[in-house]
Amino acid sequence: MKTFYIETFGCQMNVHDSEKVIGTLISEGYTQVETLEQADLILYNTCSIRDKAEQKVFHRLQQFKKEHGKGKMFGVLGCVAQQEGERIFERAPHVSLVAGSASYTKLPQMLVQLEAGNRRVTGLDLDTEEAFETAFTRRDNPHRAYITIIEGCDKSCAYCVVPFTRGPERSRTSASVLKEARELAAMGYKEIQLLGQNVNSYRDPSPAGWDFARLLREMGQVDGIRRVRFTTSHPRDFVKDIVDAIDENPVLCNHVHLPVQSGSDRMLERMQRLYTREEYLRRIGWMKSARRGISITTDIIVGFPGETEADFERTLELIDAVEYDSMFSFKYSRRPNTAALALEDQIPEEEKTRRLTILQERQRAIQIRRNSELVGTAEEAFVEGYNQATGQWIGRTTQNRTLNFLHPEHARPQNGQTLIGKFTSVRITRAGPNSLAGEALTCV
Ligand code: SAM
Ligand code: SF4
Repeated sequence: MKTFYIETFGCQMNVHDSEKVIGTLISEGYTQVETLEQADLILYNTCSIRDKAEQKVFHRLQQFKKEHGKGKMFGVLGCVAQQEGERIFERAPHVSLVAGSASYTKLPQMLVQLEAGNRRVTGLDLDTEEAFETAFTRRDNPHRAYITIIEGCDKSCAYCVVPFTRGPERSRTSASVLKEARELAAMGYKEIQLLGQNVNSYRDPSPAGWDFARLLREMGQVDGIRRVRFTTSHPRDFVKDIVDAIDENPVLCNHVHLPVQSGSDRMLERMQRLYTREEYLRRIGWMKSARRGISITTDIIVGFPGETEADFERTLELIDAVEYDSMFSFKYSRRPNTAALALEDQIPEEEKTRRLTILQERQRAIQIRRNSELVGTAEEAFVEGYNQATGQWIGRTTQNRTLNFLHPEHARPQNGQTLIGKFTSVRITRAGPNSLAGEALTCV
């Protein structure tokens, strides 16, 4: 029996890629095991968006090097594989497989080569028009499923490795996306999350030629699917029709993740983001005037080369104006191949840390304020788990807020009865910066 162990780093796209890789390996006769010690083949699905993420992988490879002596094989998949290519064999000679995400369709052939004793198997071709579609996807969560609708990226933000690691943009046909959604609904899934580096740049390659808003509307009609989410949206391709679609159909979750990166036009231009502050704010305006309260979240980079105190102030002013419901914030990290490497005026690490702390404190106050406005209201929670320590169920609202709650009739999972995978109406009683707490009203 051939066994494998896989560890995944990075974003939801990587998590879902791993689900497809796992499904493919199982269909090739492999069995997944829970620990590295039990495995014949050890895979790392990697992320290289920031230097720290990349270092983690090399650390892991070093940490378990001695396992190689026991006849185990190592493979590096994903963004670090694509970025570093065959250099990985030099840096970590115990690795025998290096494959980027654009080559996953060739995984079965690569496995055959590995099994034949080839010690340097690669899949590094980026020149592909295919998305990774496979009938074999191993999903662990039985209620919420990812569907990748578009892969790669055709933008060229000055700081970002993604166009180099994930290749050019390629969308799946609307027919294949809808078929997968219907199959998931038939299997009992209730929530679908559409994925793409720029999910809203979706363009159906079939003659139907649907844009993203059209695909969203159709997804909202799939019988049995109660929630549809999507991430990440690029501001440049964010059109008002997406907001209209959300307004029309409550199945489409009223949450939009719209990374701004900076509030300063000077920085946006240097970052090659393809929009201005004003254009970005216009899109925020569409969402703020929607009938359904749309929750808005973002990504911000501090300390991009040349960012002055005044530029940083513009970012603080922007977050005050938008009042985001949540934010991912990062210190700029120099990445190989990117245009920003050539920019002067690098910001010292301590200054980046200082700005990040100020930004995060400011955002924390906004979240406390925004969340506390919800106390006293009722929200529908999709139940995802149960916390033994606190005796609370863990749910998520359509706006993507975590909502921990007590249920008077179901204090805990027992006798095979659980609320996980169900929808429950919850009265909100308390609010913190990162979550809400409440008490269940009814079970639907
Ligand atoms: N495609 C999405 C967009 O354009 O908004 C973002 C995808 S990227 C994988 C996720 C986030 O990582 C970005 O929004 C950005 O904030 C952050 N990021 C990307 N490159 C970075 C870098 N070199 N340093 C710090 N943060 C970075
Ligand atoms: Fe990276 Fe920019 Fe593409 Fe987003 S749009 S993945 S930040 S290059």
